[in-house]
Amino acid sequence: MKDKKIAIIGLDGANKTTAKLVGVEAQLHDFISTIPPYTPPAWTSILTGVNPAKHGIIGWQKVDRMSFKSRLATSRDVKYPRLPEILSSANMKSVIINLPMTYPITWADPENTIVVSDWMAPKQTIFPKKLEEQYREFLIDPPHQWWQESDRDEYADKVKEFTETRLSVYYDLLEKIDWNLYFIVFSETDWFSHWMPQILEGKDEHVVKPTFKLIREFINEVESIADIVFIVSDHGFQKIDKVFYINEALAQNGFIRYSGFKFRMANTAKKLIRRSNILAEVLYKLIPKSKISVNSMSYAISEAVAMLIESETWGLYLKNRENIKEVINALTDYPEIVDVVPSKLIHKGPLSRYLPDLFVIPAEGVSVSDELSGTITKQVVKGDHEIKGIFSFRGEGVKEDILFNKTPRVYDIVPTVLHIFGLPIPSDTDGRILKEIFEEDSELSKKQPIE
Ligand SMILES: [Zn+2]
Repeated sequence: MKDKKIAIIGLDGANKTTAKLVGVEAQLHDFISTIPPYTPPAWTSILTGVNPAKHGIIGWQKVDRMSFKSRLATSRDVKYPRLPEILSSANMKSVIINLPMTYPITWADPENTIVVSDWMAPKQTIFPKKLEEQYREFLIDPPHQWWQESDRDEYADKVKEFTETRLSVYYDLLEKIDWNLYFIVFSETDWFSHWMPQILEGKDEHVVKPTFKLIREFINEVESIADIVFIVSDHGFQKIDKVFYINEALAQNGFIRYSGFKFRMANTAKKLIRRSNILAEVLYKLIPKSKISVNSMSYAISEAVAMLIESETWGLYLKNRENIKEVINALTDYPEIVDVVPSKLIHKGPLSRYLPDLFVIPAEGVSVSDELSGTITKQVVKGDHEIKGIFSFRGEGVKEDILFNKTPRVYDIVPTVLHIFGLPIPSDTDGRILKEIFEEDSELSKKQPIE
């Protein structure tokens, strides 16, 4: 089955409502994300078939658990082979576009892999380098900073222009390259869901529709070329009405001591740096840039035994594991927190010691934040990630209408793809072959998996 062409289309942060806005309606199933339901660990799990304790990615940051300091994570922090690496060893070809945690592109085999960098990459590039010349003008910077946008229509136009320009590259690689796997992620669904949460309730759709239409047309073309197409999201989206400030709650319970003044100063500096204001230059002299660029909290905190670092990871690091019970008890007292779970109960693997010690599971409609806001909760109207994403598929030898025995999860894509290609499945994969999707009596449903 090595001659099959499989395409995976990622719609970042899509839930069923936004997937339908993009025009993905048929065969729309739930898809369980990682804990936390967050872009970096979720896409890395989709691309590797294993949990964060095996691939090593839990957020955009890599935290040093002794000092609570962090740096940006890169592709070098991914410690498990990605699907294109496995395929390359079978001499099969992949095109990988916009996948987080793939930059710098030092891991890919130039003979068998083409990689277009994702929006978090410090530089928009295409690998191998020889393609750079041909595509440079289309690899424009992504408009991912939705939180800095004030004008609704202007931002929608910006995203549409970005999508339109980059699509020339996507179409070219789709149509002119001989590939076995074509895997592309569209972040547009995530940016729009954060920025206009009302689309999650079917309001103001007309603002985002022009961009989504371009994506739908592209999916049509993918479906005409690939034998099997999977459409997945890394996590879903829900409307949030409350923020819970974990570090503030930890401070009130005596686990953190900090200076509110220093935090506000570092935060102001951070905002100014983003806008590259001259005032930022002055603040650089007061606060070393290294202290505010990644984690402005560490500058303000004088003592911490437990801390949430990077809100969306839901992950608490503890200086001293003796405090685990006290921290769990303190936080589960708040109605906004459903549970506080030791990380080892959720993710098992050789890298578990690098993960947070605890994961905080917020109640529905609650978003957790690491900010030192001076208050424990705040009412808000916004969108935030949730565990339930989407999974859809179509193609040769797959069924029209099915019920899953067990809801598909982010880990299931790799074993399913390897099974279709007739390649061995790593014995430590955390996923399963989604056999339900194959037509009964088809070769794929009868074929034994190779271990
Ligand atoms: Zn995401």
